[in-house]
Amino acid sequence: MDLWRLGEPIRDAAAPDGPIETRWERRQFAAKLVNPANRRKLTVIVVGTGLAGGSAAATLAEAGYRVRSYCYQDSPRRAHSIAAQGGINAAKNYRNDGDSIYRLFYDTVKGGDFRARESNVYRLAQVSVNIIDQCVAQGVPFAREYGGLLDNRSFGGTQVSRTFYARGQTGQQLLLGAYQAMERQIAAGNIAMFARHEMLELIVVAGRACGIVVRDLVTGEITTDLADAVVLASGGYGNVFFLSTNAKGCNVTATWRAHRKGALFANPCYTQIHPTCIPESGTHQSKLTLMSESLRNDGRVWVPLRAGDDRNAQHIPEDERDYYLERIYPAFGNLVPRDIASRAAKNVCDSGHGVGPGGLGVYLDFADAIRRLGRPAVEEKYGNLFEMYQRITGEDPYVVPMRIYPAVHYTMGGLWVDYDLQSTIPGLFVIGEANFSDHGANRLGASALMQGLADGYFVLPNTINDYLASGPFRTIDPAHEEVAAARAAVQDRLRRLLAVDGDRTVDSFHRELGHLMWEYCGMERTEAGLTKAICLIRGLREGFWTRVKVPGTGAELNQNLEKAGRVADFFELAELMCIDALHRAESAGGHFRAESQTPDGEALRHDDEFGYVAAWAYGDVPTLHKEPLDFAYVHPSTRSYK
Ligand SMILES: Cc1cc2nc3c(=O)[nH]c(=O)nc-3n(C[C@H](O)[C@H](O)[C@H](O)COP(=O)(O)OP(=O)(O)OC[C@H]3O[C@@H](n4cnc5c(N)ncnc54)[C@H](O)[C@@H]3O)c2cc1C
Repeated sequence: MDLWRLGEPIRDAAAPDGPIETRWERRQFAAKLVNPANRRKLTVIVVGTGLAGGSAAATLAEAGYRVRSYCYQDSPRRAHSIAAQGGINAAKNYRNDGDSIYRLFYDTVKGGDFRARESNVYRLAQVSVNIIDQCVAQGVPFAREYGGLLDNRSFGGTQVSRTFYARGQTGQQLLLGAYQAMERQIAAGNIAMFARHEMLELIVVAGRACGIVVRDLVTGEITTDLADAVVLASGGYGNVFFLSTNAKGCNVTATWRAHRKGALFANPCYTQIHPTCIPESGTHQSKLTLMSESLRNDGRVWVPLRAGDDRNAQHIPEDERDYYLERIYPAFGNLVPRDIASRAAKNVCDSGHGVGPGGLGVYLDFADAIRRLGRPAVEEKYGNLFEMYQRITGEDPYVVPMRIYPAVHYTMGGLWVDYDLQSTIPGLFVIGEANFSDHGANRLGASALMQGLADGYFVLPNTINDYLASGPFRTIDPAHEEVAAARAAVQDRLRRLLAVDGDRTVDSFHRELGHLMWEYCGMERTEAGLTKAICLIRGLREGFWTRVKVPGTGAELNQNLEKAGRVADFFELAELMCIDALHRAESAGGHFRAESQTPDGEALRHDDEFGYVAAWAYGDVPTLHKEPLDFAYVHPSTRSYK
């Protein structure tokens, strides 16, 4: 049986043409508006309270809409966004180092290996400057220079300093800003907040998204909620690999359920593997820890020159070290983009130069920086990251170099959206990491926070008006057959999960799936490996539905049941990821096909054949719809950081 079939190509119908600098302005002007008095009559469901969902809910409520906001954590401010460490990009050019909106646009299109839409990326760069103003006005305590201006540092893939930060806790501070804005609207009665509720199904009536089915995670009660539009801001799916830098709860259920209801899923195989994570230390681990990319501003990456050299780092003299990033990529050095740095780390470890247990590590060394700047300056910049490293590894990075290795970190794939951030189901909008995003095949550091907040504070609140103004929509009766069917489907699935009553834990299946994905759909993929993985995933999924053991009942707080539902969806997603990776017989960004590389081992794209977004429709056999990508401004070229 064929693994996929080819469908009709798609176009982004909402994308404006004409000069790129004015596209967003013209789109906003062309969009219909909703009279402020009428906004009170319209309800929008927002699933997710991370930076994307939190900022969207606050802004929509501020504009006068009735918002109903959901998250599965015990408080909206515990969304995964709180983990973001390093910073957020914006083309402010405070450093006067040659930055501009155009340069941020250029860096992002190139960094994404020419697999993102130019219109979207340009808008992202334009809006980036507003985000910083908005957050400063909210009181987000960005780091400042002596003179009082906001400070900046550099992230990978750029030669300017455009990353705004709040020590190593930028996500937390930005989320507190969005959360405060939300709380103000909760207090004003414009946002109804449902924490500890998980969306388990999308409700679609007459082709329009009009509600969700949720489970109260404390009582187990299943309810439905109906609205004029639904926004998914449910984050990324990196946890399909079991081990990742994501919070343990991150999952694909909200977007996968929407996919099964008709929303196309785009570029699922584009996974970001971050080069600077604390290496895995054994089979007991349930997650991995990121060491922020900001550390590569001052940390130097190296391995012993001689393969198998197991002396302590301090005993390896300077001329017996290989600062391989500086050697191979002199123009960008330690600040090459993540996909490049991760592959380089894999290559040196594969050739026997890796350090630490199993040779799966490289050094990130601050000795030079401490000598040059002094320990207090290094402490000031990275103190909490160093402390975190020391607590986890028991080694003091002020004295010995950190050991790092690549790990799964971010997913560039997600639900397909048009320029208005609307999915292929009318009324269903998708923002933040949950959509297929503006990052193409590889996201540059500090660009996820930028995209999430651009979507939530500025883009969605404008574009959703156009959809809502096309109402009034038919009021859906909660007893409508589609609503009842969606609810019954959720109840039935939970019952089936509980009924298996097998002999293996949910985690054991998840861990095995994760190993499989890392092995065959991780840093390097091959046709044979991906074909094998699809068979193995199918077998494992069958085993899951016959052998999984979910203790407890559905009428109580039951974290095993929550996990089981998420892992069931991961199985289906994993297969689509492998199919997508198999069909894309080129290398691009985070997707490295061993069969498609340059003589010196760099990713080799095939623009004529694969210069498109791969958007998949759900079915027993998934259907591929290609959205061609046009590049009128940044012409595709070999991506070089040398
Ligand atoms: C360790 C780490 C550090 C990072 N550092 C940076 C950085 O320095 N700079 C940068 O730009 N990016 C960084 N990133 C990436 C960035 O943090 C994320 O991409 C971004 O925060 C995602 O935001 P989001 O709002 O889209 O989703 P999330 O913050 O993941 O929020 C998802 C929300 O959806 C809710 N949700 C999900 N599913 C359901 C459901 N079914 N029902 C109900 N609610 C649901 C959750 O409860 C949560 O509220 C980092 C990522 C990691 C892992």
